[in-house]
Amino acid sequence: MSRFASLRHTELAKEAVSNKTIEECYTRIPKSAVLSELSEQCVKQWQNEWERSSKGVITKSFFPKIADRLKPRINATPNFTTIVNGHGNIKTYLYKYKIIESPMCSCDEGEQSVDHILYECKLLEHERDRLKAAVKVIPLQAQCGPEGG
Ligand SMILES: [Zn+2]
Repeated sequence: MSRFASLRHTELAKEAVSNKTIEECYTRIPKSAVLSELSEQCVKQWQNEWERSSKGVITKSFFPKIADRLKPRINATPNFTTIVNGHGNIKTYLYKYKIIESPMCSCDEGEQSVDHILYECKLLEHERDRLKAAVKVIPLQAQCGPEGG
C-alpha cells in the first residue's frame, strides 16, 4: 500500500468511527454467537448473585457453581429437590414453620436435617449403603469431558 493510500485508509477509518449517522448492522453476527454470549453473561450474573446471596445454603453445598449445575441432566423429583434445598418433608423444615412440634428424627439421635438424613440417621443405614453401592465414583476430569471444562 502506498503512503498516500495508507493515509487515505486511516482517514476513512477515523471518519467511519466518528460518523454517528452510519447505522449499526448486526446481521453478520450469527444468531447462535449472540445467544451463546448472552447465555454466558447470564450464567456469570447468576453466579455473582448466587455467591452474594445468604439464601440457599443447603443448595449451595450441592451446587456451588451455577455452570456445573446447568450441565448435567438431573431428574428433579420432589424428593431430590427436598434433599438439595432442604425445603419439604423434612422435620427441621416443618418445625421451622411450626407445622410440627419437634424437629427430632424418629431415631431420637438428632434433628432430622438434610445432613442427618444423608450421613447420620441409623434408620436409613440400609438405604445409604444401597446408594453408596449404586453410585460409581467418576473422576472429575471424566465428568467434564476431554477439554476439562
Ligand atoms: Zn435419624
